[in-house]
Amino acid sequence: MEIKGVIWTLASLCVWFALLSAVFAPLERYFGLHRQKYLRKSFATDVVFYFLSSLTPKLLLALPVSILAAVVHRYEPAAIYTWAAYLPIPLRAFLALVVGEIGVYWGHRLSHEIPFLWRFHAVHHSAEEMDWLVNSKAHPVDLLITRFCGLIPMFVLGLAQPASDQLDPVPMLTMFIGTTWGFFIHANLRWRFGPLEWLVATPAFHHWHHTNDGPEFVNKNYATLLPAVDKVFGTLYLPPRQWPSKYGTEELQPSGLAVQLLHPVLPTLQQDQR
Ligand SMILES: [Zn+2]
Ligand SMILES: [Zn+2]
Repeated sequence: MEIKGVIWTLASLCVWFALLSAVFAPLERYFGLHRQKYLRKSFATDVVFYFLSSLTPKLLLALPVSILAAVVHRYEPAAIYTWAAYLPIPLRAFLALVVGEIGVYWGHRLSHEIPFLWRFHAVHHSAEEMDWLVNSKAHPVDLLITRFCGLIPMFVLGLAQPASDQLDPVPMLTMFIGTTWGFFIHANLRWRFGPLEWLVATPAFHHWHHTNDGPEFVNKNYATLLPAVDKVFGTLYLPPRQWPSKYGTEELQPSGLAVQLLHPVLPTLQQDQR
């Protein structure tokens, strides 16, 4: 990327940050679930994570996605993806969103169930106070894994880049929707939405994913957008009125940007931190 491109990207991320703050700061102030300071502990670290999380997936995903697209177009029967090329883009985007959600669900679930992957994903779960910015608190490797898992079914079913030689907006659009919605479901908001909560992920749905209330409540609600995916795979937990009493993980997580980035690959560093 040229220097002009880097400056442009950083400037647009600053504008997005200002817009997100302008939306969520007053909402969390007046409709907050938990009384907490806006500039909470680790806020500064999470601001850096915001920039990292916005920049690194694009860089890290470019190569694996191009390999995935090449493999699909080389080995799958053409009929599998040519039918998708004739679908109206909004319909193809909707289908891609649904199958991408299933891929993200399994990427996320495996990040909880496989100890090596959990070391990266635990960075996201180290947050002990929830707000919109926690959405960005994620290790680049964790983001790479879940996003790539979301893209696999889209490409395999021909819903992403059906014409191999043309740039396709659908994968980027679905990732943008998932990321933007992510800020909302992490927000410190006490709103409940009745039956709508079964249709689309809400703060209550995802706050239960971050609970540290005991083993019977953890490892639920892996979806980003569609709680129905958790229902199908048996991991939905959404009591109508209750909220978690605390967040985080059972095991102590290190704090500080450098250590959080390094400890998944250097576990002794984590031990030293304790
Ligand atoms: Zn998780
Ligand atoms: Zn989360």
